[in-house]
Amino acid sequence: MQALATTCEAVASTSKKLGKVALVADYLRSRSEADAALSAIYLSGRTFAAREERTLQVGGATLWKIIADLSGASEAKLTAAYKRHGDLGNATLEILGEAAPQESTLTLAEVAFAFQEIAAASGAGPKSKLALALLVRATALEAKYLVKIIIGELRIGLKESQVEEAIAKAYGRSVSEVRRANMLVGDIGESLLLAANNKLSEARMRLFHPIGFMLATPAETAEDAFAEFEHALVEDKYDGIRAQAHISGDKVRLFSRTFDDITESFPELLPALASIGHEMILDGEILAWRDGQALAFSELQKRLGRKRVSAALQRDVPVSYVAFDVLYANDDLAIDRPLTDRIKMLDDIFEEAAPRLIDPSPHAQGSLLFPENSISSREPRVLRAPQSRADSAEDLDRLFDAAQERGNEGLMIKDVNSTYAVGRRGKSWLKLKRQLATLDVVVTAAELGHGKRAGVLSDYTFAVRDGDELRNIGKAYSGLTDKEIAELSAWFTAHTLVDHGFVREVEPKIVLEVAFNAVMKSDRHNSGFALRFPRILRIREDKPVTEIDTLERAQEIHDSQFHVRPAKRSVLV
Ligand code: AMP
Repeated sequence: MQALATTCEAVASTSKKLGKVALVADYLRSRSEADAALSAIYLSGRTFAAREERTLQVGGATLWKIIADLSGASEAKLTAAYKRHGDLGNATLEILGEAAPQESTLTLAEVAFAFQEIAAASGAGPKSKLALALLVRATALEAKYLVKIIIGELRIGLKESQVEEAIAKAYGRSVSEVRRANMLVGDIGESLLLAANNKLSEARMRLFHPIGFMLATPAETAEDAFAEFEHALVEDKYDGIRAQAHISGDKVRLFSRTFDDITESFPELLPALASIGHEMILDGEILAWRDGQALAFSELQKRLGRKRVSAALQRDVPVSYVAFDVLYANDDLAIDRPLTDRIKMLDDIFEEAAPRLIDPSPHAQGSLLFPENSISSREPRVLRAPQSRADSAEDLDRLFDAAQERGNEGLMIKDVNSTYAVGRRGKSWLKLKRQLATLDVVVTAAELGHGKRAGVLSDYTFAVRDGDELRNIGKAYSGLTDKEIAELSAWFTAHTLVDHGFVREVEPKIVLEVAFNAVMKSDRHNSGFALRFPRILRIREDKPVTEIDTLERAQEIHDSQFHVRPAKRSVLV
């Protein structure tokens, strides 16, 4: 473990990407294959291979307590160290110092074993005991990196893609071969073993680990969008959450765009997806869905982040899965095929599954696909996103209006000849969205940031006007430059009304213009609204607080965006 920690130190202090890759490659080559494989996983900031469902579930608060116990340091000393470094691993090195063993005895196999035990233990107490038993044996430098690995963020400026490059360099293979094997097997340790043994071509798709999502680039206008390629396939842009469905027999897992396993949040989708086919990975969107129509995102939001979903909530906010792409089906790796082929595969899949998807009996009490506990036992839980062809900008304009008419966000415009670009945002998929108005707001509270922003007030809570009152409506931390944040941080420090340590209530003087994707009803802030994906566009030095936007304006935007007009046709036709 000491050699891995030393390598991490060297990687962290090298700014050049190639230098980092060379250091990791040298290190991997110098280790046994088994140790190199474990290292590859840890260097990617993971405790287990990506495809594993196991997690440690030991968070910063538990580690904080362990470090306090091991070092005997006071809460104040720990807080000061954390504030100085903005990173618990770095603070650990400083705090443990002399208190940790000076000689390293910890092997990577022992670390791996300890991780397995922690993952298998149930309950915070037993997990914390095992984590303590691991950290007590570590040198201060080893503890620094163990803490970072357990938290899941190494912060040494090394991405998994660079670990892939290092593997290629260490064993004389091509980077693309290593990347492909890793994408297929979802285990960078196993990919390393394949590379070391010249067996990369033997890698086969393994289900149940998320594959990088293909993403879209924004297009400003229909004309711009159309300029990108000649033949476009057009779908509605649904305002739900993206989900990759992995299906093998009865087993189904759903992964979000952030690679989280969200299966348990959507139990009613699982039997429906399982009945679609034997072995496949579908790409699609989960939507709140009722009466053949997508509901507003604010409805779906009631379902998010819940581990257990009651039958009542399933009835209140029914969801459906709208599939628009296929990545893999029955031994066929679809990602390498052009979109036209993938669409054909999707057609075949849905045609074959049709008898199971459409319940022919008018008296049906609900089949797998029409669960009895949904609002309507005849509401489909898995649908195929309809696609249209567009050959001119006028076609796009017409389709855009129709999509909005159906209550959807806009259009996705896809190049018919494009392959599925795993994990990339390219110009083969374009998105054309509704332009939402921006809001001018005033900052009411400022909070310390994380990482390199741990020392500055960089997270801002902001408000709109409601008569003479200010009502908070959102919180944002992105959009400003480091220089602007430094200036604002100094200003807020000097104009603090109440200092809560981490958060300061500040004089409401700084006006910001914020953009967002939607205004949602929420009890998080006292305005009764929250903004979805807020980002700061600029500081409005020209605007006095008396002229900021009002609560009524927020209400107006809220009402206009989710006004779903009565569908002239079914939303998916
Ligand atoms: P954005 O979140 O604005 O970057 O837009 C990209 C997102 O649009 C994707 O991650 C999907 O969640 C979503 N999306 C909605 N409809 C589609 C569709 N038909 N094809 C692909 N992505 C879609």
